[in-house]
Amino acid sequence: MANAPSIQFLGAAGTVTGSMHLVTASGRRVLLDCGLFQGLKELRERNWRDFQFDPTALDAVVISHAHIDHTGALPLLVKRGYRGPIHCTKATVDLLGVLLPDAAHLQEEDAERANRHGYSKHTPALPLYTAADAEQALTQLRPAPPYGQAFPVAGDITVTYRRAGHILGAATVDVKLGPGPRIVFSGDLGRYDRPILPDPEPVAEADVLLLESTYGDRIHPAGTDDELASVVKATADRGGVLVVPAFVVDRTQELLWMLHHLEDAGRVPQLPVYVDSPSATDVTEIYLHHPEELDEEFMAEIRRGQTPLHTAHCHFVRAVEESKRLNDLRGPAIIVSASGMATGGRILHHLAHRLPDPKNTVLLVGFQALGTRGRSLQDGAKTLRLFGEDVPVQAKVETIHGLSAHADQNEMLRWLGGFKRPPRTTYLVHGEPPAAKMLGDLISSKMGWSSRPAQDGEQVPV
Ligand code: ZN
Repeated sequence: MANAPSIQFLGAAGTVTGSMHLVTASGRRVLLDCGLFQGLKELRERNWRDFQFDPTALDAVVISHAHIDHTGALPLLVKRGYRGPIHCTKATVDLLGVLLPDAAHLQEEDAERANRHGYSKHTPALPLYTAADAEQALTQLRPAPPYGQAFPVAGDITVTYRRAGHILGAATVDVKLGPGPRIVFSGDLGRYDRPILPDPEPVAEADVLLLESTYGDRIHPAGTDDELASVVKATADRGGVLVVPAFVVDRTQELLWMLHHLEDAGRVPQLPVYVDSPSATDVTEIYLHHPEELDEEFMAEIRRGQTPLHTAHCHFVRAVEESKRLNDLRGPAIIVSASGMATGGRILHHLAHRLPDPKNTVLLVGFQALGTRGRSLQDGAKTLRLFGEDVPVQAKVETIHGLSAHADQNEMLRWLGGFKRPPRTTYLVHGEPPAAKMLGDLISSKMGWSSRPAQDGEQVPV
């Protein structure tokens, strides 16, 4: 039936980036997320393809959260003619004000580098999009009413956001198709009983569920504090520098929170901590401007006049010159810098400088997608390609999975336990195939629900 409601998976199907799904119902088209592909080259090249729909024919865009793999194609959508509303939570509006111009800047840098070194097929190489496109996208953002309150997005289609607990402003997306069925999109689910953000909120019902599966094959170990304390102490004992590639949203803030509390408890020495990222610095400020997003423990510390996102000797670095001067820094010290999977940004020069020295440690604290430098380090690479050179990896490389912002297997099942009736079908998105498969098997055996991985490009009835 031409008019039957449907959903089409246009990204993050069989992979963890490029989140994008198109809902069509009663002649309206609503895009859920508009993410950039990251990681492997063949994925990144997909960013350059035409959209599989006409951007000018969309009625609305609904964003789950600010991460670039969920929002980074918004400037491109706008560049290709979309002028309608982009709905997101209030905190997401503020975060995108930092992240989208940043993403555009990286695209412009890539193009400039390609031109300088002449390695583009096109002369001159053009950026995927520009800062002007990002600015235009920002003007189309529409802050949603508070969590739990339904709002109209197109025709009789309404959306209700609920807390996902993943990063500031992250929401699950409950899409009601008028008098018809209900699609629930998990976005990225966060953790339970973690500092800063409240737990993911349960959702009671869905006819079709799109569930992320990033860590569908993993259970995060407990004792994250102990692991972090031992990595910090071991690096300090060697007189080394602890280098942490961290996502600017949430990983940086949770790390600062944990270091602050470990210092207070006398469990780690009070080392100089450098947050070398203007974006992470801005985002840390944004956290403090959104009390509606923060958990009770955090707000209680604020009321007591504490600064929970600072350590004893904490420096936020904005200027490029100051960032470069960190190369002269002698350990023990901690440098936190973006990007979180070491795909770009200032972390690259810190890795180039610190990796050859066995005194230093590189600490990975978030999901590392296939094809990224972070993943290579995690998989034990002996050298890392940086600025056209193979840099020897002599530093220790540690991973603390418990510091991830993503729910593990048990936490996803816990969230699914909030549904009062099983969805008719659950499609697994946002996971590499082994993770999606394992989560699907668990959902069948533990919940008795029908589920399967979403196939890239397929369109399914709702
Ligand atoms: Zn995310």
